[in-house]
Amino acid sequence: MAKRDYYEVLGVPRNASEDDIKKAYRKLAMKYHPDRNQGEAAKAAEEKFKEVKEAYEILSDADKRAAYDRYGHAGVDPNMRAGGADGFAGFSEAFGDIFGDIFGAPRGARGRQVYRGADLSYALEITLEEAARGKETQIRVPSWEDCDTCHGTGAKPGTSAKTCPTCHGNGVVQMRQGFFSVQQTCPHCHGSGKIIPEPCTTCRGEGKVKRHKTLEIKIPAGIDDGMRIRSSGNGEPGRNGGPPGDLYIEIRIRRHELFERDGDDLHVQVPIPITTAALGGEVEIPTLDGQKAVIDIPEGTQHGKTFRLRGRGIKGVRSSYPGDLYAHIAVETPVKLTEHQRRLLRELDESFKKGGHKHSPNEKGWFEKARDFFS
Ligand SMILES: [Zn+2]
Ligand SMILES: [Zn+2]
Repeated sequence: MAKRDYYEVLGVPRNASEDDIKKAYRKLAMKYHPDRNQGEAAKAAEEKFKEVKEAYEILSDADKRAAYDRYGHAGVDPNMRAGGADGFAGFSEAFGDIFGDIFGAPRGARGRQVYRGADLSYALEITLEEAARGKETQIRVPSWEDCDTCHGTGAKPGTSAKTCPTCHGNGVVQMRQGFFSVQQTCPHCHGSGKIIPEPCTTCRGEGKVKRHKTLEIKIPAGIDDGMRIRSSGNGEPGRNGGPPGDLYIEIRIRRHELFERDGDDLHVQVPIPITTAALGGEVEIPTLDGQKAVIDIPEGTQHGKTFRLRGRGIKGVRSSYPGDLYAHIAVETPVKLTEHQRRLLRELDESFKKGGHKHSPNEKGWFEKARDFFS
């Protein structure tokens, strides 16, 4: 199951203060505390409690929160070892050995066990217009280069790596378990077949140092919030000559002032004066591509009426046709009336009363229901 956004879990905005986060956490922790929930509700509450606690642990820590804001869950996942101050997590450290042992990692040229590098995740915020149109942009991501001091060997200059005495350079050892002989990754050299007696001080024996590089990213038109773009081979380097991991760019779409997106459809609120609603008229509305569209408001249009503009939504990444634009009419009550306007409205009111409920179709139905309710 996908992890929920930590801010959403705590029900606070992304710019919430430390205090707001603490307050939200206390409230939710009280609500879902295991001591306060019994019976069938207890299990669900326990899950919620864990989720809330995890969100709080990240968002209450300024460093972790910054990493989360930037890289999402991958930046701070408590199950993963933090890869560095910039919040990238090292997956291979946590999972490489496990997967290697279970599925049988591919063997390197000299019989060593190789591990694929960790995948990295990068959160990229774009506007709704950019999402609709597509965009080419550059991002700065970490990259690993051979260490200049040891030229990638990991050994202190003047020294060299030695063949691991435990596995004799094979990277694996045979373990006898009853009748079976089981092959395991060498615990001494972790499968590399080599040990470095004096590690290079620049790279701490890793052979690689972390730098940065700029990547050109092509964001396809129609991309939606939460979608990921894979940049193959731009994750962490593999170990023992294994292939590098991938970089996943997760798209976040900034909230738009006018338009709300729902899949390929867009929604826009259109306030109109009471007179236009009553008499009808033309209303100009904006569309996301910067053009204008005209809606013909018929006489007697009610508040909440929706007009559909076919094909004026967004063409999704996998869609053949663009979605629609829905204009939701919001009839506005006039304010700051002059004496003259007030008089006109009173006159209008008198005239409405003479017509009974004829002029207010919703009110008529409402009154009838209210009368039935009380009788
Ligand atoms: Zn080095
Ligand atoms: Zn070994």
